[in-house]
Amino acid sequence: MPSVTLKPDKVFRVGKILCVGQNYTKHVKEMNAKKSADPVLFLKPATSLLHEGEDIVLPAFSNEVHHEVELALLVNKNAKNIPGEKWQNYITGAGIALDLTLRDLQQTAKQKGLPWSVSKGFDGACPISEFTPLSEIGDIDQLNISLHVNEELRQAGFTGDMIFKTDRLVAYMSTIFTLEPGDIILTGTPAGVSKLNPGDIIRASIERLGSITFHVR
Ligand code: MG
Repeated sequence: MPSVTLKPDKVFRVGKILCVGQNYTKHVKEMNAKKSADPVLFLKPATSLLHEGEDIVLPAFSNEVHHEVELALLVNKNAKNIPGEKWQNYITGAGIALDLTLRDLQQTAKQKGLPWSVSKGFDGACPISEFTPLSEIGDIDQLNISLHVNEELRQAGFTGDMIFKTDRLVAYMSTIFTLEPGDIILTGTPAGVSKLNPGDIIRASIERLGSITFHVR
């Protein structure tokens, strides 16, 4: 079963992966989208997880796979309708995730008003790091995020720039979905998304959490 590790060695079987789109103003602009009143939510299946040491395989049914580096959160307690200020009671750690997106298929889906399941949920669409205990991280809203492709900086952001911050996101998601131990939350990507090509080497980093590296083929 798909799983992730909370450092040093606690394994969580992963249930659902809850994601928010359009959560950084500059990324909303580069997507030609408009800010929405509530977070834009979508899901990835647990089978989309990919761990370091495995390669990102660009699917044959897309010509435009984009990288989106994101802060990930690991749920360790059932949560329903929780108040924002209690979010730390339900999240045990944070990690680095890539919300890989088939931008060509997503654009077609947006135009036709169809779901994003294929463009966001295909096998390997969620490369992920190990999780670092929340107690070792400090302020979750004060972390620099970056992504390099072949050592060239493509994305640089700061979690303090999220439109819906961690507390609000966890609380909002819990009003719609019951959060369960092993669920993962992806908090959105800063600007600078771009297309991946075979042979690329991606390095995604978040301050205090380290970095992960993946080869693309
Ligand atoms: Mg994303």
